[in-house]
Amino acid sequence: MRKFIFLFTCISTIFLQAQDVKKATVYAGQGETVIVPTDAKPTQKQWKGNFTFKDSDVIFSNDFDGARLNGIIKENDSTFIALITSENTPINISPWYAFKVASKEPKQINVTLTYQEGIKHRYYPKLSDDGENWEVLDSTNYTAYEKGNADFGMGSLPLSVTLKLSVSNKPLWVAGQELETSASVREWATDLTTKKDITYSSIGKSKEGRDMGLLSIGKADSKNMILIISRQHPPEVTGYLAMKAFVETLTSDSKLAQKFRKKFGVFVVPLMNPDGVDNGHWRHNLGGIDLNRDWANFNQPETSAVRDFMVAKEKETEGKFYFGIDFHSTWDDIYYTIDSKYEGNMPGLVPDWLTAVKADLPGYDPNIKSSDKLQPTAVSKNYFFVAHEAEALVFEIGDNTPRDFIKEKGEVSANKLMELMLSRLKEGK
Ligand SMILES: [Zn+2]
Repeated sequence: MRKFIFLFTCISTIFLQAQDVKKATVYAGQGETVIVPTDAKPTQKQWKGNFTFKDSDVIFSNDFDGARLNGIIKENDSTFIALITSENTPINISPWYAFKVASKEPKQINVTLTYQEGIKHRYYPKLSDDGENWEVLDSTNYTAYEKGNADFGMGSLPLSVTLKLSVSNKPLWVAGQELETSASVREWATDLTTKKDITYSSIGKSKEGRDMGLLSIGKADSKNMILIISRQHPPEVTGYLAMKAFVETLTSDSKLAQKFRKKFGVFVVPLMNPDGVDNGHWRHNLGGIDLNRDWANFNQPETSAVRDFMVAKEKETEGKFYFGIDFHSTWDDIYYTIDSKYEGNMPGLVPDWLTAVKADLPGYDPNIKSSDKLQPTAVSKNYFFVAHEAEALVFEIGDNTPRDFIKEKGEVSANKLMELMLSRLKEGK
């Protein structure tokens, strides 16, 4: 398998050597959204603490925010079997695992990751000394069992994997995707507020009482607004990284960004599901619900906070949301758009934008899947379009997309969007 080496810099520097992400076929995207009830359901929290063993100096811990380790047993002196389980069922196949491991004496151990019935291993392991800077596990230390041959989805995954790890008295972090928790999101957002036209405030509380943080960028009372959200689904860290690069570009000192911020009010909810993220959920909020099925019913506090904010902001400014974007992660990079036969507040913006992004990223051919099914709104993009006439889409990044490409794509996407929206505004269309 070919390998990529890439470098990614944001709050932390991540040096990751990722597995090949070139596929023989193009990802077909997910099927029609299944409409499900969104009344709250019970979720199971993970027990938190240290896992120790008789006659062993190896200690595992899950005592931190983000991802899961639900149990671990010692098979022999050097072999351990971990169990990772979800917050409830039925659930998407996105087991977001993480643990810390240390030993008094330096040694090599094997850790096999196992999952509940019907679930397979998805996220390639990343290692860290500090929980912030990550490096992918060398493929020689990775063994996959019963791996499927498909390019995408359940059929592409192994049933379980064994990781060979070198442990010592300095704890080693192991995680399925980088741990970007509510604390790290808050730190990132707060750092952006050193600029005069950027603030970070709360538009409500999650079910467990965490703030629903909102970045306000540019002209807060402008009639021309855009909305950006990310991380409805906790393990979808690559989508979050794209959102960061996108937003950082909107807040940059470039002439374009400064001009854009004078004309537009940009509102960002970088972490839609803070409880799910900190509790290590695979998909749902603490109400046990996929938030991206609740944009018609608004049974959950996280979706309701954003709806209330948008409605209030339109009233306050007597303006419009011209654009709404929701960042996610999936098997491969893909855009879910709304059929161009439907016209919102800036008709044609999304297709023109994606064409401009393609032209600026040599060799990149965007995978675009549009839908003409808008009702019931259920998902964020349909709500943004139907209720606010914002040109809307879902921006999905692959689980294994190289982090340097995510950053480049986020930056190019933001620059092209600003150019287009400024020229459309000038032309009055
Ligand atoms: Zn998602």
